[in-house]
Amino acid sequence: MSQYKQNKPNNRRKRNFILIIILEILLILILFFGYRWYITNRNDNKSDPAKQSEQGEDKEDSKDNEEGKSQDDTSSNEPTLTPEEQEAAAEQERLKKEEADRQELIAKADRLALRYDYDAAIELLKSYKTEQGGYEIYPVLTDAISRLETEKGTLVNLGGSYHSVTEINHIFFHTLIVDNAKAFDGDSMSKGYNMYMATIPEFNKILQKLYEDGYVLVNMSDLTEKVTLEDGSSKYVEKEILLRPGKKPIVISQDDVSYYDYMKEDGFANRIILTEEGKITCTMVQDDGSVVTGSFDMVPLIDDFVEEHPDFSYKGAKGLIALTGYEGVLGYRTNDPSSPTYEEDKKEAMRVAEAMKAEGWEFASHSWGHRNLREISLSHLKTDTQRWLDEVAPIIGPTDILVFPFGVDFETTVGTYSSDKYQYLKSKGFNVFCGVYSKPWMHIKKDYVRMTRRSIDGQAFLEFPHRLTDLFDPKTIIDPDRPGKDW
Ligand SMILES: [Zn+2]
Repeated sequence: MSQYKQNKPNNRRKRNFILIIILEILLILILFFGYRWYITNRNDNKSDPAKQSEQGEDKEDSKDNEEGKSQDDTSSNEPTLTPEEQEAAAEQERLKKEEADRQELIAKADRLALRYDYDAAIELLKSYKTEQGGYEIYPVLTDAISRLETEKGTLVNLGGSYHSVTEINHIFFHTLIVDNAKAFDGDSMSKGYNMYMATIPEFNKILQKLYEDGYVLVNMSDLTEKVTLEDGSSKYVEKEILLRPGKKPIVISQDDVSYYDYMKEDGFANRIILTEEGKITCTMVQDDGSVVTGSFDMVPLIDDFVEEHPDFSYKGAKGLIALTGYEGVLGYRTNDPSSPTYEEDKKEAMRVAEAMKAEGWEFASHSWGHRNLREISLSHLKTDTQRWLDEVAPIIGPTDILVFPFGVDFETTVGTYSSDKYQYLKSKGFNVFCGVYSKPWMHIKKDYVRMTRRSIDGQAFLEFPHRLTDLFDPKTIIDPDRPGKDW
């Protein structure tokens, strides 16, 4: 009994002990699985940045659970940046933008240098400024400036190809033929077009050839300038034209850019216009009356070519446009105040002329009525000139260049002008006079400048091809659609 009694507490102790062991095992299991559940859940939540709070607590698991990746995601998240870090990032962004601005400025300066405008290019770079200071503190800019200054130092007057501006070629065209079939259709005008006009493919080939041979477009105003002497008098002198070695300046002009009525339905443009984007181009009327837009004449064709080849133009020079007035200008009938569209046409012609000047074009008088200035009387010259000054000058702005109609000079002298006609024209502001000759010829006199031009047309191609061979071989230029010599 006592044994039993003695055994009883013993057994109970043993059972309690086992129970405690079981409970402890259970507790350990609960803790273990609970922890496993917690870790698994936590890692699922990692992909949602909003749910993150105790990052880093389970670092030892990171290797097994691609923790590295999710931590990268976290660090790129802006909300976690401190204000200082945000400020640093903004500063970084600003510096990056400034650097891009400087590169863009250098590219712009290089484009100016390409067209021989080194002074403007260098000036542009020197105008750069930030809150930190001027261009001097940016090596990328000072390097570019010294590079451009070195290049500028290699330029030579007239590209070294000529000794004087008097040797510069000046070639001229009339309105270009767009539709060969219409121009050369055998009607009463065909022969005239064959003699005096060039087709667009001919013109494009000539332009390409001139470019390949190193010619560079210059304007009349690039050739000479009037300087004042010590005694107060003035005289004309040659200007310097600094080009890369081997380049050759050339002037191109176009006469009678009026799109005269007689040319209607003969395959020519009918107007120079400005598009809504401000591009200078042409319109042409189709057979069905509809109007198409495109580079149908010299002005937009040269603009397009220079856009593609900026080194073909000296400081943006394009050429000279000689205008009569008797059927208006540039395709606008600004000669007729009774026209219902007179005011509108005048305004539009002014807008186009303004845009052309901004694009590097210059204008000249070609007389109002396309008169032979040697044959007409002085009084006729006066009324004609006055009419041009009244009707055309207000549209294109002032010019001191006169391009002789038919190429006929008002004097026969090869010496110095002295006639009343000269005195009159001089009194009306004309200082530069352009005739026609087969070779470059120029006089720079005290009070005026005279320069001849070479015509580029069917007559030159077919009748006097030998006169052109220094510029190009006419055989490689002539349009297969052009009839043979038929005059
Ligand atoms: Zn003419």
